[in-house]
Parts: sequence; structure tokens; C-alpha cells
Amino acid sequence: MINISEIFNSVQGEGILTGTPSIFVRTSGCNLRCWFCDTRYASWEPEGDSLSVKGVLESIRRWPTGHVVITGGEPMIFEDLPALCRGLKAAGKHITIETAGTVDQDLMCDLWSISPKLSNSTPVGYASDEWIRQHDQRRATPEIVERLMTRGDYQLKFVVGSILDAEEVLEYLQVLKGWDRERVMLMPRGVTGEELKLQTSWLAKWCRDHDLRLCDRQHIHWFGNRRGT
Ligand code: SF4
Repeated sequence: MINISEIFNSVQGEGILTGTPSIFVRTSGCNLRCWFCDTRYASWEPEGDSLSVKGVLESIRRWPTGHVVITGGEPMIFEDLPALCRGLKAAGKHITIETAGTVDQDLMCDLWSISPKLSNSTPVGYASDEWIRQHDQRRATPEIVERLMTRGDYQLKFVVGSILDAEEVLEYLQVLKGWDRERVMLMPRGVTGEELKLQTSWLAKWCRDHDLRLCDRQHIHWFGNRRGT
């Protein structure tokens, strides 16, 4: 069984598959508590229903779309995720898994979309001391990220809201082994077009100067920060 908050058909707005029509399967529940989480209904206050793998596969059958993005929350916390991926591959789908890279499972995936969480994600002032401790203990697991990176195509997306955050990405990359510069992306933090524009105004130059990719959140520009997009 997998807790699901929503399943919808839209267009991928982030990363190397930007612009690709995709079915999104959003699992509900997360082992982290980033203060800036923009899907709180799938993490801090998880909503939705527990569905069988068969139920999820039936639900996506209504669309002919070839790409499926399994996102969250944190999809990797569900034991039935490998079975869901087997079912999707049997149906001929391309699978992207969006994960923070803190939980390991060996499963079929075409694109690992890994978003390691920096120290800027810690929910100081937003969550209980216990959650702050757990978040900080769990968020940085480069050894798991390295394992996921060896299991297929991958991209690393870092959410940044300041130059200090961007510099922490460089520190993270000094520790992480085996990464490819082409697959590292810095993504502005923001949930409105105005916030993204403001962040991008300095981040684009920073990316140019450090030879790393800028990744905007195009779905916010296209649709706004709305559920089901
Ligand atoms: S890992 Fe993702 S889903 Fe979980 S709290 Fe952080 S931003 Fe939200």
C-alpha cells in the first residue's frame, strides 16, 4: 500500500525533462520537515488515501502519457514503491523519482531526480525540537545519494535562497563522489513568479561564474503554485 495525496496529468516544470508531458503520482508522507516545503499536504500535514499498487496503476491508465513522475513527500519511504515501478515499467512508462536522497531502495527508475537538502532547510522556529533534531540527522546522506546515482540517469537539484546556500552546494559537492557537472542544478527557492525572478537575478550570474546549471521552476510561471499542476 502507498499513501497517495494526488495523481494528475501535467507538464514537468523542473530539471532536464522540463516541458515533458507527465503523469504525477504524489505520495503522502515525508521523513523530513523542510521549513519551505511547498507541498505540506504531502509532508507536514499528510493528506490522501492508502492505495494498492494495482489501484495506482489503474488510476494512471486514464491518460496515454508516457512519462510518470513519482514525487512527494518522500516516495522512497514506501516499501511497495519497487512493485509500483515494476508495474509502470511493464506498462512501458518512463519513470522519474523525485527524492531528497535520504532513503535507499533498489528499484527500476529511469531518472533519479535527487534534491539533497542543505542546512537552509532546517525548520528552526517552525517545528518541535524533536523534528529539528531528526531533520538535521537525516537530511545529509551523500552515501545514499551516491548509490542512487549509480542506478541510472540522475540529476541533482539544490534549492538555494542565498549566496551562502549556493556556497554550501560547493561544499556538498566536495564531499560527494562521482558527480557529473552537467547533472548538477541550482534551483531558486520561491513559490511565486516574483520570488523566482528575484532569486534568479543573482543566481543566474552565480551559476555562470561557477559553471553550474541554473534550473528554474517553470510550472510556477506556467500555472502558478497550484495543486494538480
Ligand atoms: S523533503 Fe521535500 S516533501 Fe519533504 S519536507 Fe522537504 S521539501 Fe517537503
